Amino acid sequence: MTEPFHDVVAPPAPTRIPVRGGGTFPVHRVYCVGRNFADHAREMGAAAPASKAERGTPVFFMKPADAVVTGPDVPYPSATAELHHEVELVVALGRDASAGVLPVESAPSLVFGYALGLDLTRRDLQAAAKAKGLPWDIAKGFDASAPVGTLVPAAAVEPLAPRTLTLDVNGRRRQSSTLDHLIWDVPEILHELSKLYALRAGDLVFMGTPAGVAALHPGDRCDARLDDVLALHCTIAPARV
Ligand code: MN
Repeated sequence: MTEPFHDVVAPPAPTRIPVRGGGTFPVHRVYCVGRNFADHAREMGAAAPASKAERGTPVFFMKPADAVVTGPDVPYPSATAELHHEVELVVALGRDASAGVLPVESAPSLVFGYALGLDLTRRDLQAAAKAKGLPWDIAKGFDASAPVGTLVPAAAVEPLAPRTLTLDVNGRRRQSSTLDHLIWDVPEILHELSKLYALRAGDLVFMGTPAGVAALHPGDRCDARLDDVLALHCTIAPARV
């Protein structure tokens, strides 16, 4: 580009996530994994692999970076009568991957830290899209569809496998699983993603949800936890329009 240039609209500020211990994490891309817990795959009517050898390839989709929201109030979205929660571990990348496919063994070095997120879903629109073989974007990538809690550096959260992910809605347990039930673990997912995209510092990866997804309504309070190391608290607010 030749200098000087002038933007003809104001450039958008990046979405930023607060980091425990100080600083903020500017979001580049938001990747999401579908069907990464067997119990959730089954509750959605999909087959769950019987073994690692039968996993095939992961299901990926994306949300826009500005779908990430960190405030306590999350607006109920338009165009749905069935908003579902999916509590998920969120991986935050602190380094760019080298060119080419990322080896599984190298993947942990890219991870800055972890947060909890809700992969909010317009389930009615997703079911209609699945029935017609259409893309999931309007079901998954809407405004404020990705509430995320405070980011915590990796060393304070790992090892992940024995930790328990939970979601309470209005004080009642809706979802709970240890992370050793992930069909694809974090290094495996980063390896698979690197076959498809150039992974960059600032990327987030939503790792998929266990069983128990269900409807949310305005006024519902969501409290997600990963043991005592990660938390996300938010309330579904009335629609913006
Ligand atoms: Mn999900």
